[in-house]
Amino acid sequence: MFNNLLVFVWGLIIGSFINVVIYRVPLGKSIIGPSSHCPVCSETIMVRDLVPVIGYVLLKGKCRCCREKISLRYPMVEVLTGVSFLLVYLNTGSTIRAVVGGYLSVLVIASAFIDMEHGIIPDKLTSIGIMAGFLLSPFTVTLVSAAAGSIFFGGILWSAGVLSGGGMGGGDIKLALAVGALCGMPHAILAFIISALAGGVWGGFFLLTHRVKRKSFIKFGPFLAVGSYLAYVYGSQIIHAYFRVLGI
Ligand SMILES: [Zn+2]
Repeated sequence: MFNNLLVFVWGLIIGSFINVVIYRVPLGKSIIGPSSHCPVCSETIMVRDLVPVIGYVLLKGKCRCCREKISLRYPMVEVLTGVSFLLVYLNTGSTIRAVVGGYLSVLVIASAFIDMEHGIIPDKLTSIGIMAGFLLSPFTVTLVSAAAGSIFFGGILWSAGVLSGGGMGGGDIKLALAVGALCGMPHAILAFIISALAGGVWGGFFLLTHRVKRKSFIKFGPFLAVGSYLAYVYGSQIIHAYFRVLGI
């Protein structure tokens, strides 16, 4: 119980770091310094206001100095990261798989939120992700499995992009290369199926309700994030359950 709480709080803290990444990386700013300041009045944010979630609640979601609203994204990302870390830990225990799962969570949460806000997934995130995926693979899924997962997931999104005449962004393809390596095979296939289903359902709903052009660009990052996270954490259970249903 104590360990679970510790992992959750650690996730909240890493979540507040992800918020820095989401805000600064697309603007080409350093994630190390200077210390955080309000984007409206430029006042440096006090350390006690930076405490994950609690800082936001005590400030009632407003800057201490200019009273400008602070985006709900900040506490959301923190809680999401806390929960993601906890579910990884509950599923893998204190193993290297938990550490890699934590890294995968950071990569996909940062990528998904940047994609939603800016419509891009920065190379800085995905290139480190691809490297990490291959370097860590001998300790988790094996190098061959990582290479197969990466080529499969990246390749299938690249093909989808070519077939749809550029409907898939380069950032999505690079993220797929990274998470494919992190998940390995056959989990990368599952990651693709879940992302495609989630994206398809959302895309269909969007077409029905918004009357957008069929050709318009879909931000696939958030779906990739959900698919790869679920495949990494629950992949083995899902695959076993599937074969049990088939009676194999
Ligand atoms: Zn302010």
